[in-house]
Amino acid sequence: MSKSLLFIPGPVTVAESVLAATAQPMIDHRGPEFKALLERIARRLRPVFGTRTADVLLLGASGTGGLEAAVGNLFGEGDRLLACPIGVFGERLVAIARTFGCEVDVLETPWGSAVDAAALRAKLGAARDGYTGVLLTHNETSTGAQNDMAALAGALRGHDALVVVDSVSGLAASEFRMDEWGFDVVVAASQKALACPPGLAMVAVGPRAWDRMGTAHGGPRFYFDLRKAREFAALGQTPWTPPVSIAFGLDAALDAFEQDGAGAVHERHARYARAIRAAAEALGLEVYSRDGAHSPTVVAIRVPAGIDGDAIRASLRTSRGVIIGGGQKELKGKIIRIGTMGDLTQTDVVGALGALEIALLEAGYSLHPGTGMQAALKVFLEADQPAAV
Ligand SMILES: *Cc1c(COP(=O)(O)O)cnc(C)c1O
Repeated sequence: MSKSLLFIPGPVTVAESVLAATAQPMIDHRGPEFKALLERIARRLRPVFGTRTADVLLLGASGTGGLEAAVGNLFGEGDRLLACPIGVFGERLVAIARTFGCEVDVLETPWGSAVDAAALRAKLGAARDGYTGVLLTHNETSTGAQNDMAALAGALRGHDALVVVDSVSGLAASEFRMDEWGFDVVVAASQKALACPPGLAMVAVGPRAWDRMGTAHGGPRFYFDLRKAREFAALGQTPWTPPVSIAFGLDAALDAFEQDGAGAVHERHARYARAIRAAAEALGLEVYSRDGAHSPTVVAIRVPAGIDGDAIRASLRTSRGVIIGGGQKELKGKIIRIGTMGDLTQTDVVGALGALEIALLEAGYSLHPGTGMQAALKVFLEADQPAAV
């Protein structure tokens, strides 16, 4: 099959304008053109993070590199942190912090749910000596759940802990207000909602985080030294050779983002996710995330008993050219995950749902063909109507 639709939650389908931008001739990464490019990207990313006061730094890395930089520059041996994982990526943040020698307390949340703000408030209140840092995930890609960051920010108010947020699969797909919410370091990556190829991590670092780094806290670091990254950013450079082609792509992706407008981009992700959830429900499938915690960028769907999710995925890939995600760790084979990020149309979404119906039928699941697609179409038609007055 020559054509396929990429519905995994990163990397995502990249628009032709962005791909074309990445094919531009190479430039001097210490010259004036790159300086202008880097400054333009950082300036345009600020409103996406919702910050006026943070520095937005670009690191040559995937999202995990950005998370390692965030944790390793702020925390080290003996620091007490509170982590609030709601899935596999939150657990990765715990593993990074432990690798740097931090003592990590974990606020447990059942998978599929968001962090309970009252539980966070209680946990913070019960800590005798307080925490040096708190680790949060904005959007948990492994379960299709998203946290209410405004509510968590409310629970954190009045505590001095530095707050690190993984918004790798959240940023640019929904509203983010770093300054207003009082977050200190926020991490994103090029291959998710900004719809570029992988290769760049974006790390927004606020004033309190710089103050802490100024007093030499953190673990051993070299490549990911954010102080060095800031020094070079002031010159319009990165300390090490950056993925220049991805920076070209990110600049073009920001053109598209600004042209559509943040509000319309957020609404598109939410609408696609709503359509996919509606299709799942119409087909009698259970959406894995709980009400009130649904992610706009990825929908996790429980696979019916007796059917192997990984077999469904393999059939979609080989026979229908539709690539979707599966379950990670204990969810392997038990859920499928359909992403909404990237250069996807409503037609792509409806087509992928049709392919899913066929794969389910072939696996022995009983359904009326078209039921899921119809539910998705209904969401698209409703959303296309002018708002009722
Ligand atoms: C994709 C993702 C990451 C980073 O993964 P990389 O493969 O390192 O880019 C981290 N957190 C979340 C929530 C993600 O979705």
